[in-house]
Amino acid sequence: MVETGQPRERIQQAVTEQAQARLRELFGKMPHEIPLILFTRPGKNEAYSEAARQVIRAIREMAPKVSLREFDLGHDLAQTNGVTQAPTLLFDPGRFKIRWLGAPLGEEGQTFVEALFMMGYGLSGLSEQSLKILEKLDSPREIKLFVSPTCPYCPHQAVNALKAAVERPDLISLEIIDIQANPELTERYAAHGVPMAYANDQLIAQGAQPEELFISSLEKLEQQSVFIPDNDAEEVETDLVIVGGGPAGLTAGIYAVRSGLKAVIVERDALGGQVATTPVVENYPGLTQVGGKALVDIMVNHALQYANIFPGEEVVDIQPGEPIVVTTTRRRFKTKVVLLATGATYRHLEAPGEARLAGAGVSYCATCDGPLFVGKKVIIVGGGDSAATEALHLHHLGAKVTLVHRRDKLRAQARLAQSLAEAKIPVFFNSRVVEIKGSDRVTGVTLFNSRTKETMDLPAEGVFIAIGYQPAVDLARKIGVELTPDGYIKRDDRHRTNVPGIYSAGDVEGGYKQIVTAAGQGSEAALAIFEGLVNPYWKGRESPA
Ligand code: NAP
Repeated sequence: MVETGQPRERIQQAVTEQAQARLRELFGKMPHEIPLILFTRPGKNEAYSEAARQVIRAIREMAPKVSLREFDLGHDLAQTNGVTQAPTLLFDPGRFKIRWLGAPLGEEGQTFVEALFMMGYGLSGLSEQSLKILEKLDSPREIKLFVSPTCPYCPHQAVNALKAAVERPDLISLEIIDIQANPELTERYAAHGVPMAYANDQLIAQGAQPEELFISSLEKLEQQSVFIPDNDAEEVETDLVIVGGGPAGLTAGIYAVRSGLKAVIVERDALGGQVATTPVVENYPGLTQVGGKALVDIMVNHALQYANIFPGEEVVDIQPGEPIVVTTTRRRFKTKVVLLATGATYRHLEAPGEARLAGAGVSYCATCDGPLFVGKKVIIVGGGDSAATEALHLHHLGAKVTLVHRRDKLRAQARLAQSLAEAKIPVFFNSRVVEIKGSDRVTGVTLFNSRTKETMDLPAEGVFIAIGYQPAVDLARKIGVELTPDGYIKRDDRHRTNVPGIYSAGDVEGGYKQIVTAAGQGSEAALAIFEGLVNPYWKGRESPA
């Protein structure tokens, strides 16, 4: 199920007319025709075939250059094009080798529209760095990208793959595969965490990547984690570089620019951070219940009115000084101040089997991977708000959920604990997961009960680990920022770290780790930065206090 929530629907309604007019204008100016061919088969995935027809019909009302022909899977054309699954959608097969297995639903609707624009205008929009890599490519690449309509990271990776296939149709083919419509293919490729990208049947990426890292992984046929840009990287001068596009960073961007500073926000992964994968948020003031991704969309749209956002870019180096030089995977920034709002990353259980079976039944994102476990037994590990929220989400999706918690009492808010009880989700208290079992796929866990000192095996096909987060301090550590004994960034009451010109905000500082507190810290830090730059009183003070 796609998480929509009432507020999101209301907002969508409000922007629909304006957005449609804009889309119609852009589709109308496209120089190229885009013939689509849809292969279907009565009795096979009919709901997806009908959904694909409806999406295309809606697009065609705005895009006269998009045409559709539909054939049965038994038609000669299916054989000529090697099509074996229904529904399969081919995009302008005379020009490109791009196909969609399933229907472009939910988060993937955006990908579909971007694909049409790229093909209609004949422009991939790849960065210069990516183009340089692709120019060197001299042998074919067959990409298979597994996605799900509920995964907020998937469109980013799908657009990376589309750009590559549009840029080099001579060598690059792409299949975007919806895991829900294609369970056999998903099983064959063990794509149990999305997005997951294969090229020439080699796994090249798990999760979304910055564009250049994807292109580089595609060229090298193995996952790349670092991309070092050439010296001719573009340079941007600004007052403030905010590292991290979660609630703290986005809020800081709004406040800094409203104060009169020039500010940019750089984010390596999905904008919104942890919120983007939170199924439902019920404690953000003003919104009684809102999907995490919907809340992120609202915040990002707001921040975009003020600050420049650079998504899919990773900060690889910060050289303190005047100016401070921030190098990312795409360009260099010269700035007066840097705000570290890098948030936190999933904590690992460190149990045997966990790393080996990650993506093969072990998951850290119920919103992304939940649809794979409908009707299956899953275990959620943890006793906090995340574990409770994710357990409820998976339960509502139709998974058979059991919660495993190491203590005799949940840490989660009373309201969430009550919902768990009402949903009759069984909880194993005083229990630790001492092993995650399975050879190629998760088959279960071994639990140790700290009261009875007994061990027992619990069968399961999925293990969702929701045991909190660790502050993302690699960058801070690299530039000599002092940390607290708990590993968070140490800062003074004006969010200044021990390194001149480097400030911090949000979960990376520890504290209550709520969306609203992160946003509050982002605003405080931005105001303190503004005062530090313009007010000699604050400028002169030693840091940290
Ligand atoms: P958390 O509050 O730190 O809870 C982590 C849970 O995992 C605890 O129950 C902890 O057990 C358990 N745990 C930690 N390490 C473990 C290990 N090695 N083995 C087994 N269990 C382990 O983390 P969270 O639930 O991810 O929440 C993080 C923050 O985000 C919190 O401040 C939370 O309030 C907030 N959040 C809020 C909402 C919401 O308001 N709707 C939703 C999600 C998250 P113990 O209890 O024994 O320590």
